[in-house]
Amino acid sequence: MTAAALPPSASVTVRAPAKINLHLGVGAAREDGYHPLSTVYQAVGLYDDVTVTEAEGWSVELVRADDAVPLDGENIAIRAGRLLAEHHGLDLAAAISIDKGIPVAGGMAGGSADAAATLVALDRLWDLRTPDDALLSLAAELGSDVPFALVGGTALGTGRGEIVEPVQDRTECWWVVVHSDRGLSTPSVYERFDVVAPDASVEPEVPVALLGALEEGDVAALGAALGNDLWAPARDLRPDLAEVEADLRSMDPIGLLLSGSGPTLLMLYDNVDAARRALVDVVDLGLQASIAPGPVAGVHLVTYGSA
Ligand code: ATP
Repeated sequence: MTAAALPPSASVTVRAPAKINLHLGVGAAREDGYHPLSTVYQAVGLYDDVTVTEAEGWSVELVRADDAVPLDGENIAIRAGRLLAEHHGLDLAAAISIDKGIPVAGGMAGGSADAAATLVALDRLWDLRTPDDALLSLAAELGSDVPFALVGGTALGTGRGEIVEPVQDRTECWWVVVHSDRGLSTPSVYERFDVVAPDASVEPEVPVALLGALEEGDVAALGAALGNDLWAPARDLRPDLAEVEADLRSMDPIGLLLSGSGPTLLMLYDNVDAARRALVDVVDLGLQASIAPGPVAGVHLVTYGSA
């Protein structure tokens, strides 16, 4: 039999966005070790594409190799696939290919995006029709940021971030996403938070002014209300970030923010032309950067066909 005559195997590609936290309020660690969060997520236009194909056993590959991403059962995409199969009592597996456009260990939840995309892609590949609330529960089991990757847009996250409630966002944001040459481990930033913020409240506050700015579509007010409790601990672990921050601040963006647990930094603009001009200046400093609009949709199907 020639290769062309082989029966095609079904495949599905799903795209998932990066997230940023417009506000990241962190409370004192709970007894189970998790920190209570009051966060406002916004999905932004940097994407991972996840393609799943029928296979006898689980595997994961990256379209562009990255040593920081595990290629065994530790990869959160395989964990997501196994969890979905188990939920339905199925003994099925898949080959997963990931085209990463979201920086790895950058505080933009790329792994969570892959997990959410894998759930949706396999649900379609295997024609499972899993109800939305069940998909959201499986997502929450996989990680705090995974439910938001399913939902996208802009949402308030509470609990440990896994309880998501969409909020009205009339802003049109353009972010200059300033990448770092190395990642920052999320657990280590939280450990440092426990040291630098021993008096953190049990219940972090909901950011009323920021939610008002979103509802009004007021990007200037949003810029003034941005906040991240992990910024100080991340700076402690990466003192070099302070220098980059000072350079970026001198360009006078509408707002400047550390993305999640860092080290990615975000400059806020209200139109694409201003963001493009800032991008040129950032690249001139020798930094790597890209532009992403927000808010954007959550995971969505790209192609459904044969591999
Ligand atoms: P977090 O989601 O924990 O806040 P992050 O957004 O900073 O982290 P991710 O890109 O999600 O960073 O990766 C965190 C770590 O998760 C990586 O260093 C890697 O070891 C592991 N990992 C497992 N699966 C994946 C995946 N599919 N993509 C990226 N990283 C993965």
